[in-house]
Amino acid sequence: MSQIQEHLEMVEAKIASACAESGRRREEVKLIAVSKTKPVCLLQEAYECGCRDFGENKVQELVDKYDKLPGDIRWHMIGHLQRNKVKYIIDKVYLIHSVDSLRLAEQISKEAEKKGITAAILVEINVAEEESKFGVTVEHAVSLVEEIAKLPNIEIRGLMTIAPYVENPEENRLYFAKLKQIYVDIIHKNIDNVCMKELSMGMTGDYEVAVTEGATYIRIGTGIFGEREYT
Ligand SMILES: *Cc1c(COP(=O)(O)O)cnc(C)c1O
Repeated sequence: MSQIQEHLEMVEAKIASACAESGRRREEVKLIAVSKTKPVCLLQEAYECGCRDFGENKVQELVDKYDKLPGDIRWHMIGHLQRNKVKYIIDKVYLIHSVDSLRLAEQISKEAEKKGITAAILVEINVAEEESKFGVTVEHAVSLVEEIAKLPNIEIRGLMTIAPYVENPEENRLYFAKLKQIYVDIIHKNIDNVCMKELSMGMTGDYEVAVTEGATYIRIGTGIFGEREYT
């Protein structure tokens, strides 16, 4: 068995037990294989193991890989997105997880309109209020959602957060619970054009906790592909 297949089986078992523990159905949780920095051959291997959702954080890398891999892959843009690069990925990505400003949303709306499509996005919230991280603050999250909802050719599907790096994943439970609470608050506001369905939270170090707190998308890199090397 290949290493990727072995890793995927391990991840799969942990997702299943986190679902069982929290009374959730396995189908409620979608696994994104975060393939940033990894070569196309490894993505192909994960594809052959059944992965169809891949996450990248750089526009150029996503575009390069998009051209080399099967067309039924759902590409997720999970990294900080510059407005001038939206045009390169707008018709290639299935979901943009990292929208954290009205200006970026306006650009996405504009480029989607040009292509005659509707862009699906998540609003990224910096729940832990870490200075080093992107994402709108908790305080401004709801008003940002309300503003983006008014734009054409863009549809808000839910929320995303990147929790802090911690030794003990339990330390992130409150941040996942907080994101879920904001999500529920937004649902109760019944904002036109907002369809809150997705909670993108949890990475290699903390996805089991995220699943028990309601994650619908978990983003796993290291746990599938091994450690990343940055050159
Ligand atoms: C790299 C990355 C991940 C995956 O991180 P791992 O710890 O390797 O699982 C998840 N989400 C985002 C936004 C990332 O940039």
